[in-house]
Amino acid sequence: MPSFFKGGIFLSEFSLVIKNAKIDDNKITDIGILNNQIKKIGKIDNGKNSIDADNHYVLSGFVNSHCHLDKSNLLDKMTEDYLGKTLEENRVLLKKLKSSYSEPDIEKRASETIERMLSKGITAIRTQVDVDPTAGLVPIKSLLKLKEQFKDRVYLEISAFPQEGVVDETKRELMEKAMELGADVVGGLPLVEEKGKEKIHLEILFELAKKYNKSLDIQVDETNDPRMSILPEVIKMTEERNFEGRVTVTHAIALSRFPTERAIKMIDQMKKLDINVIVTPSANMITRFTEVSDLWIRPSNSITRVTELCDKGINVSIGTDNIRDIFYPFGNCSMIRELHMLISATRMTTKPYIDAAIKMATTNGAKLLSLNYGIEEGKHADIIITNGSSKLDILNSDETIPCVIKNGNIIYIDENKFKGGITDVYR
Ligand SMILES: [Zn+2]
Repeated sequence: MPSFFKGGIFLSEFSLVIKNAKIDDNKITDIGILNNQIKKIGKIDNGKNSIDADNHYVLSGFVNSHCHLDKSNLLDKMTEDYLGKTLEENRVLLKKLKSSYSEPDIEKRASETIERMLSKGITAIRTQVDVDPTAGLVPIKSLLKLKEQFKDRVYLEISAFPQEGVVDETKRELMEKAMELGADVVGGLPLVEEKGKEKIHLEILFELAKKYNKSLDIQVDETNDPRMSILPEVIKMTEERNFEGRVTVTHAIALSRFPTERAIKMIDQMKKLDINVIVTPSANMITRFTEVSDLWIRPSNSITRVTELCDKGINVSIGTDNIRDIFYPFGNCSMIRELHMLISATRMTTKPYIDAAIKMATTNGAKLLSLNYGIEEGKHADIIITNGSSKLDILNSDETIPCVIKNGNIIYIDENKFKGGITDVYR
């Protein structure tokens, strides 16, 4: 491998300078960082330390908008007969696996996943964390501890996730306790409720979000049957309760199966209400939908209408979702892999859509998490130097990220690609 990082220059005005950074398709420049902020973009001669990106693309750190750190790495506890089940069967098996949960166990598995995400250039994560009678508050306590422990290396946002529902009084009380402990977001999963109670589930979520003054992130429509869709109800409640800009829907798969005219109307309403969307391509593609008899609704894999959502200017971001667990036994924590899946499955192969996809994994995710991200002066210095000299190159790369900068500090560097210089400075 060529050594494209050449460092070791001791300069003064900036704490770190990235030389020869490609920041858009036609611009190669230097980036001057002082402490945790991008101070200057342009030709720079001075700085305390410098690193040469050698004309490679430099992006804001990846934002993983949706994952489940508390469930990650459960694969080692699973036997072969756990694989290949339906969504409903997986929920039953998950309860069984939770019997082995303890704070140290969750912290160990989640830490390993965070480390892997960091090495893949993820500098901010929104994780859904189970809050239910089976695991109690153990997962949320563990993740709150990790949020503090990792705060200099990754921004962690915690969404309290009612994996077993919230309509039951005991479950609702647990959600209240999770919010009081410090969860950042109210999560939701209406489809786990008894049929007919999904709307009550939503009402409780909106009440919780209002009471604790938090945003909502609701997993909706993990089905491609539009007759099961709860999204119209979420849109309605967002409007009725004046929750503009505070609601996110994750998955929203059924939208892809509504007739186009109806779907576009819903997307227009979502735009008006500033509803964010999170897509998790690998997990969406692997979901085993229940067989139904109608030929026109045969089970098939689908992802929400990402291109239409983008065209209408909705803030769409992307997440890895489950990593090595009962719902998804694969995953290497790479956002590049997710982008590849997204672009292939939704045919986002035009140049504007490729640009849009990269934004989903960077600045759109940052917008969702209210982070001051972007390769611009005044923005936060969470930056990755990629292996590509074009966006297609990045997507076609081996998914490694040679250099990850968080809060202006180099927190990960691939020493095979960097020989000498800056590593000596930062060790
Ligand atoms: Zn999920």
